[in-house]
Amino acid sequence: MLGAIEAGGTKFVCGVGTGPDDLISATIPTLSPEITLTAVAEFFMRHGPVEALGIGSFGPIDRAKGQIANTPKEAWRNCPIVGKLGSRLQVPIAFDTDVNAAALAESRWGAGRGLQDFVYLTVGTGIGGGAIVNGNLVHGLMHPEMGHLMIPHDRARDPFPGCCPYHGDCLEGLGSGPALLARWGAPPETLPADHPAWELESHYLAQGLAALALTLSPQRFVVGGGVMRQQSLLARIQTELERIAAGYVRVGDITPPELGERAGVLGALVLAESRGAGNPAGIRPSGRLDC
Ligand code: ZN
Repeated sequence: MLGAIEAGGTKFVCGVGTGPDDLISATIPTLSPEITLTAVAEFFMRHGPVEALGIGSFGPIDRAKGQIANTPKEAWRNCPIVGKLGSRLQVPIAFDTDVNAAALAESRWGAGRGLQDFVYLTVGTGIGGGAIVNGNLVHGLMHPEMGHLMIPHDRARDPFPGCCPYHGDCLEGLGSGPALLARWGAPPETLPADHPAWELESHYLAQGLAALALTLSPQRFVVGGGVMRQQSLLARIQTELERIAAGYVRVGDITPPELGERAGVLGALVLAESRGAGNPAGIRPSGRLDC
């Protein structure tokens, strides 16, 4: 039996099991690292023992050090989450981003089944993505941060300056849920399908997907998250993406995820299968570590 954690900014979803049909899970609020990680460790002691643990975490993260990196959530900045849980549970731990984990889960059980190359993107409070290329997750120096792609911003058409605290009008700054709320003065879920917000939103998201299509050439885009609950958006993005591609390159189809809110924790379960191999910080760390 394996353990899985989707570490989010507001909640940790913990699970033990082997897959979508065999998963016991619970939700623990994200408070201070000490309180939350104590509760998380207790969950696995109660439902375990587990052979290994996978963590898909909000980011950015430092995989090599097994810690959360430069997050705006101060208490969690540089928190050595892998060391803290490893010393309590004494199991190997695999550690990656929440969106990389979700991409893994969609690859195994969801909308990316059978594909060697696809991109998973979530559009909600933030925008984040994971890429599977040649059947493997892309990591690189750190990990992709697709939400912060810089995209063309026509200020005559859209004077909203963007809301990313780092870049202003990056993709997340222009197209996330908070950007929609700030620009239109209403939460995205209250905007009707014929509201001009959606034409602009489909334009921005298609610009982001076009950049990914041109660099990674995925067979498919799996796009989910709270903003995508607007049913008309997916087809609009596809049309806009093809318009931007202008017949020069083939672009993959865009589909919704199949695993919904369970993608993160299920992906963490897939991570756990590696038993921490390839994760320098993932093998039985010990000793006391402070955030
Ligand atoms: Zn940004």
